Amino acid sequence: MKNKSIYDEIFDKPCSVCKEMIKKDVYDQGDCPYCKWKNNFLADENPNRVIYPNLISLNKAKKLYSEGRPFEPNLDDFVEALFFYSEMQFEYNGTYYAVEIVNDKNKNLIIRLYNSKTKETTLFNNDEDFKNNAKVDGKLLKDIWNDATDKYWLQ
Ligand SMILES: [Zn+2]
Repeated sequence: MKNKSIYDEIFDKPCSVCKEMIKKDVYDQGDCPYCKWKNNFLADENPNRVIYPNLISLNKAKKLYSEGRPFEPNLDDFVEALFFYSEMQFEYNGTYYAVEIVNDKNKNLIIRLYNSKTKETTLFNNDEDFKNNAKVDGKLLKDIWNDATDKYWLQ
């Protein structure tokens, strides 16, 4: 018979966002069936940072929840997540785009935007350059961000 360890145990604890009682493991991990927050102790300890497996910070999630809005990353959240995950994606107008942190030839970290349909690649010097100047379909990404979908780490 397998010994049951503390790591197998599941506890009834409140969701860090909506406070409903949910199932959490010893690391306070547990997906909330009510608000959809992916609970974990790292987010609890770093409430202003974007941390796996969420795309927004815990405090941002609390704010959106209180406003009745979905846990969608804005462009700032998305770029913060990019620096955490290294590779992100989004969909706009039927086309998927990959956004990646890469090294240029001088080993500087830069941002690469890849259009999966046209195979076109655009490079940006840093996060501000990307946020202000990235374009999709000839439009600034920051202007169409709310119409983009499937924002996630690269699948
Ligand atoms: Zn919840």
